[in-house]
Amino acid sequence: MKTKTIVLKFGGTSVGSIERIKAVSKIILSYKKKNTRVAAISSAMSGVTNDLIKKTKLISNNFDSAEYDTLVSTGEQMACALIAGKLKALGQNSRSWLSWQLPILTEGNYSNSRISNIKTKELKNFMNNGGIPIITGFQGINSQLRLTTIGRSGSDASAIMLAKFLKADECIIYTDVDGVYTTDPRINKKAKKIKKIFYDEMLEMSSLGSKVMQPTSVQDAKLNKIDITVKSSFVKKEGTLINGSKKIFSNQIITGISSTKDDAKITIIGVKDKPGVAAAIFKPLSDNSVNVDMVVQNISLNKKETDITFTIKSDDLKKTEKLIRNNKKIQYKKISFDKNLSKISIIGVGMITTPGITYRMFNALAKKKININVITTSEIKISVLISNKDIKKAVACLHKEFKLD
Ligand code: ASP
Ligand code: MG
Repeated sequence: MKTKTIVLKFGGTSVGSIERIKAVSKIILSYKKKNTRVAAISSAMSGVTNDLIKKTKLISNNFDSAEYDTLVSTGEQMACALIAGKLKALGQNSRSWLSWQLPILTEGNYSNSRISNIKTKELKNFMNNGGIPIITGFQGINSQLRLTTIGRSGSDASAIMLAKFLKADECIIYTDVDGVYTTDPRINKKAKKIKKIFYDEMLEMSSLGSKVMQPTSVQDAKLNKIDITVKSSFVKKEGTLINGSKKIFSNQIITGISSTKDDAKITIIGVKDKPGVAAAIFKPLSDNSVNVDMVVQNISLNKKETDITFTIKSDDLKKTEKLIRNNKKIQYKKISFDKNLSKISIIGVGMITTPGITYRMFNALAKKKININVITTSEIKISVLISNKDIKKAVACLHKEFKLD
């Protein structure tokens, strides 16, 4: 019988107290079976990383970047030692591994490095002899042997990369939600847990506001073809499987609906219709880290002038207004600003092969008298910009229209 390798990952809330450390140790043990090798990655206990970051601010707003990573990665060391200690107390051979002890090699800048390689020889030996290694997420070392970190919430990526280098059969991400839902359960009570979702759909869901996993981690999993299961460490329930080979059910065209809130819309009316104008509008925004989301340019009627509409986060509205008013490179007739908007998106690979989805979406919204401000589409997603006050109504009617209820 082939030996199976499983990588488990526990997030901050899952290991947030001594009670939780005991609970996850039991979960880890439950995977220990004949012909199964188990390795676990842990994040820091919840709140610990934030506290460490606060400490650096008390020293200096310009805290040395190498020392910053050395400090903020210590939370993981604590959590891993506690878990390994508990497993040993339960009679299970286990030990902690810090990133540099393997090592986990990273490239790139401090606080934002990427894992380039993980040496797994020692881990494999340990697992082959029945041991369960508990490995620090979030941290690695660079070519100067300094500690590095891979970005906030980076332990997911650590787990996915470990699964890759161990050639694991499964990677299970334990968190405080029990999976990915068809839409935010706080917005629509009829939200259902999704059993299987494609990487690409998950990428759209996570970048559009379902904060179950970071988009970059999903991207890593997709590139390395790692099947991920997201499940809760608090309740024993089936989770959501994220992979590349879901069967498309004929009646299930849309997999999920996501919504953002606090979007703002800017319309610049009567700008010159000539090359370089759009670039001139967006350059100062990009230089000032304003994230532009939906962009629509109308076809000009007189071939001289056109209107450009785009959306940003409401928080950036004041800054953006200033940048546009001070932009000497553009001329326009009028400008208008709108806030309290929300982007609702329907997501599903099924729409590639099914015609009429756009119509069904717009018609469902029209029947509820919901006004659409801006529309954008991609191969597997249709997004509309509506008023914040209509979010609940819109999500509910689309959830029903696409048979997700
Ligand atoms: N402890 C780190 C953080 O809080 C990494 C993680 O949670 O995945 O960002
Ligand atoms: Mg975390």
